[in-house]
Formats: sequence, C-alpha cells, structure tokens
Amino acid sequence: PGDVTVRRLAQGIGVSTEKIEEVLGSIGEEMQSIEDRVPMDAAELAAAEFGWAVSWAQSITGSGTKAEPRPAVVTVMGHVDHGKTTLLDSLRRTSVAASEAGGITQHIGAFEVKMPGSKRSLTFLDTPGHAAFKAMRARGAKVTDLVVLVVAADDGVMPQTKEAYSQARECGCPLVVAISKCDLPQANVEKAKQQLVAAEVELEEYGGNVQVVQISAKTGAGLLELEEALILQADVLELSALRDGTAEAVVVEAHLDKGLGPVATIIVKGGTLHVGDSVVVGTLWGKIRTMKDSTGTPINSVLPGQPAEICGLRGVPQAGDALLAVCNEDRAKRVSDARAARKMAPMLQVPHMNGVLSGCGET
Ligand code: GDP
Ligand code: MG
Repeated sequence: PGDVTVRRLAQGIGVSTEKIEEVLGSIGEEMQSIEDRVPMDAAELAAAEFGWAVSWAQSITGSGTKAEPRPAVVTVMGHVDHGKTTLLDSLRRTSVAASEAGGITQHIGAFEVKMPGSKRSLTFLDTPGHAAFKAMRARGAKVTDLVVLVVAADDGVMPQTKEAYSQARECGCPLVVAISKCDLPQANVEKAKQQLVAAEVELEEYGGNVQVVQISAKTGAGLLELEEALILQADVLELSALRDGTAEAVVVEAHLDKGLGPVATIIVKGGTLHVGDSVVVGTLWGKIRTMKDSTGTPINSVLPGQPAEICGLRGVPQAGDALLAVCNEDRAKRVSDARAARKMAPMLQVPHMNGVLSGCGET
C-alpha cells in the first residue's frame, strides 16, 4: 500500500532512476518502467544501498478507488482516576457480548468493538492512553485517528487533562470530550465545561467543533451518544485503506511470554496481514506463527484498522515500531539487517510523497 515508484524513490534518494533499477535488479526485483511500484521492502533495501533509512510509519493512508473504509483507531486519554479504564472495560464488555465469545476477555493492547448502535467497528487502544500515545509519537508512528478526552464530572479539568489535550492537538487528532462519572451526586457538568473552555478546548456549544458527551461508565448512560460522536468524527475523516497487498502495521504493545515467546499487539494500517507472513519489525524479523483477535479467538488474517496479537517474532519489538510484511524470510532477514546496520547512522529526514526517507546523506 505504501509502495513508491522507481521515479519517486530515485527522487527521494537523489540518484538516477537507472541506478535504482540496477540495485533493484541485484536483489531480484526487475522493473519494467520507472513508474512501476517498488515493494516497500525492496525500496528499503535499495535505499539502504545509498545510506538511507526509510520510515514508513507515516505512509499509511490508502486513497483512490480501491481504498476501502476502515475502523477508526481511538485513544482514551485523561487525568488519572477520571474513569478511562472503567470506560474501556464497559466498551470491551459490549464487544464481548456482541461477539458472544463469553468468558473473560484478554487484556491485549488494543481491542475492536462492534458498536451496538451503528454496528460499525471502532478500535480502541487499551494501554494507558498517555504512555502508549507518547511512545508511539516519539517513534514517529501515527496510529490514533481520534482521541476521547475523559474528564470526571466531580473533579473537572486537571493537569493531565490539559496535557492530553495538548498532545491530541499536536497530532491533529479530532477530539471528543467524555464527561465521566455523571451518575455521582457531586457531578458538576457545567463547571467541567467552563474549565474546558478556560483550557481553550473549543466546545461545540461555544462555537467550536469539539463535541461533549456526558457519560457514566458505571451505569452505561451516554455510551451510545459517545459512540455516535466517535462514528461522526470517523466519518468526517473518511478513513480508508487498501486491503490488497502486503501488510503494514504498527506495534502498540509487546512482551515476552514464557510459553509463547515474543507476543505483540499490532494494528494493521494497510494491506492484509496473514498467518505465515514473513515480517520485519524495527530491526527484528519473524514469521507470523499465530494471530488472535481481541477476544482471544485465533484468526488467519487482519484487515486495516483492526488489532491482533501476533506470535512468531524473533524478539520483543517496541511500541510504535512499524511492521512490514515482506515476500519471504530471506528478504525479512536482509531488511532487518540493513536496518540494524544503519541504526547508529545520523538521520536526516526528508519529506517524501509516500512517507519519509531518512538517511545519513550530506546536508
Ligand atoms: P483511570 O485512572 O482514568 O483509568 O480511572 P478508573 O477507570 O480506574 O476509575 C477510577 C475510579 O473511578 C474507580 O474507582 C472507578 O470505579 C470510578 N469510576 C470510573 N468511572 C465511573 C463512573 O462513571 N461513575 C462512578 N460513580 N465511578 C466511576
Ligand atoms: Mg486506568
């Protein structure tokens, strides 16, 4: 999905298209024309020949006629104890009930909910919102489409509320404010709203574009309205991605499991990830052995906007690492080696049509 043409790759690197074609030929990629698309892994290897690293993390929005709608990825942020986990838990219960999987849901780093009202899917990051968001942003990964800013009705705007708001604003993510704990007798919604306005959150009822929803994760009140607000924002963004081709994904969480080895939660950004795919993740590689969806059910493939827990990596990646499916294990090893080899090289970021080329070229 994030493929570049020979011509664009040559432009980005600053060499002739003949040179690029020559290098691609040497790794077994014969190109017919300079408008041919170069698979991402091959592009990375070619770029590496010229001392460039390629960051694909930003490249990921499909467009054009073949792109299909995908679920929005939502991060819940807000001050500690304002009800983020409780909200996520009630959303998750919804998803379990809806899929009739029953039992205990596993805590993987992200989960997909088929929303009860619209029957549309949303994917929620299930990590402490802030930490994951920060880690991923630090690594240049843009995984979140929407932010829910949770503000407790009994406590109002607090330091981390403001911090979360400024983070959401920096990344350009549309925001929905959820005023939580509205069931409490001491809830003061008006006061919370005034404080939000004072913190420069542009609320809809004051002429801005930020919708406010009053919820109680405890009673379930307002959750449908929150869903509607999120779906509305998602529709404005017209989120879509190509399902064809090799997958690009982002790691949102990873750990070492005693029995399973490295386990990572990923969200697919483009293409379709399959069991058996060879992948490069950061400087690691692997072959997807098994995948599970967020209810713990084994699955064979994952589509854009969907999360999955994957096994089969040769090490534990970091949150924010980009995962790229490649054609075979040999290619996976070569790309991860190439990445490792220039890990210490000084980086230069160059804007590029389909992502960012970064390398150690002269400035
Ligand atoms: P977090 O730190 O933002 O994840 O907050 P938690 O979800 O852990 O919630 C902090 C406390 O607030 C817990 O004791 C929750 O039971 C309580 N809480 C969360 N949501 C609600 C709500 O909607 N109503 C009431 N009454 N209590 C809530
Ligand atoms: Mg929590």
